[in-house]
Amino acid sequence: MTDLLEPTTTLPQERRLVTAVPGPRSVELMARRSATVSAGVGTVLPVFVERAGGGVVVDVDGNSLIDLGSGIAVVNVGNAAPRVVAAVQEQVAAFTHTCFMVTPYEGYVAVCEELARVTPGDHEKRSALFNTGSEAVENAVKIARHATGRQAVVVFDHAYHGRTNLTMALTAKNMPYKHRFGPFAPEVYRVPMSYPFRDEPGLSGAEAAARAIAQIETQVGGANVAAVLIEPIQGEGGFVVPAPGFLPALAEWCRASGAVFIADEVQTGFCRTGDWFAAEHEGVVPDLVTLAKGMAGGMPLAAVTGRAELMDAVHTGGLGGTYGGNPVACAAALASIETMRELDLTGAARAIGDTMLPRLRALQERTPAIGDVRGRGAMIAMEIVEPGTTEPDPGLTGRIARACHAEGVVVLTAGTFGNVLRFLPPLVIGQDLLTEGLDVLDAAFAAHAG
Ligand SMILES: *Cc1c(COP(=O)(O)O)cnc(C)c1O
Repeated sequence: MTDLLEPTTTLPQERRLVTAVPGPRSVELMARRSATVSAGVGTVLPVFVERAGGGVVVDVDGNSLIDLGSGIAVVNVGNAAPRVVAAVQEQVAAFTHTCFMVTPYEGYVAVCEELARVTPGDHEKRSALFNTGSEAVENAVKIARHATGRQAVVVFDHAYHGRTNLTMALTAKNMPYKHRFGPFAPEVYRVPMSYPFRDEPGLSGAEAAARAIAQIETQVGGANVAAVLIEPIQGEGGFVVPAPGFLPALAEWCRASGAVFIADEVQTGFCRTGDWFAAEHEGVVPDLVTLAKGMAGGMPLAAVTGRAELMDAVHTGGLGGTYGGNPVACAAALASIETMRELDLTGAARAIGDTMLPRLRALQERTPAIGDVRGRGAMIAMEIVEPGTTEPDPGLTGRIARACHAEGVVVLTAGTFGNVLRFLPPLVIGQDLLTEGLDVLDAAFAAHAG
């Protein structure tokens, strides 16, 4: 792991359990939660947080948990990162909101300047800021439709793009995201993803792309496609890494067909995969990218960044929103991006992958239930199956996750079949803490799948 040049938190970087997980104060708060918060909002791990920083989350009972989730790939720079805290404090005391569409402010412009620098490609770019990933995806589709005069949007099996009406339509999985929430938006077409663990063995990225493109051309018609929308590594779908060549072939088809290639980098972005953006790994330059999660150190901020001619095609007033590009969130984003540069967090993400992948592959060697270990940088997952098959085992996946939680390690699950354990540590996590988290995972497998 890279030695970080400066402290990223004052919290002790340790796993420390002083009660059961959850402890009595968390249990009390869960009871209050149930009496007042909609049952429709889920909870992965019912401990209530008091503080968090670096690689730990400290709960109201005094337990210090190792964070391998980052609030779903959000606190890439660490929780309450010092630069972010200082920038937010300064901005919140100056002004909290004017609405950029009413009276603008410099922070919004500065964020868009940074996005033009850090996103793939050296073409002329423009950005627009929003609040959530779903909103960014909706706006990318609006822009692509407006600029092309076409309506069809192509998405992939296992895709996740959000929970608003349009993004539910774009998302593949029924439970829990779509079930009984229809009707969904029209002109959305789903085609096969490149999924090496589940595709026929040896299917190349180019062949998987040809399969998807054949379906687009026969079922939609190239001339009707406004946009092809894809996560360069799928997030909620289970950290599916397409075979090499898949993304470049799709991008090339879009260029030839006049369709907009949109990379949804909401989960993969901002150093997570060891590059600033996952599309860079194969040199793919998307026409539009959607950004959110890792962008602003935990403050709600999202963006669409893309080719100036597409972004500027929209009539004035066609894009926006009351809170989009809130000044406090913009200050946090600028401080986060500065932290990523100063601490070389792309290097830190690669170092996390270099620590995790050999450990998880060694675990896979002795654990027949681990069918696949995959991912890049600090976005790593394993797929849990019935031994010797590709049959998903979501039950075992849940037992392993709960065993890790009980031992003070925050891990998340994912996947269309609920059988993927995924790891998204903050990029500032220390080597010792990461190793200890992996020791706990090893022990959980030994106890439940040995
Ligand atoms: C989380 C996510 C979204 C939705 O973002 P929200 O901020 O939850 O609306 C969209 N796309 C991807 C790839 C995501 O991971």
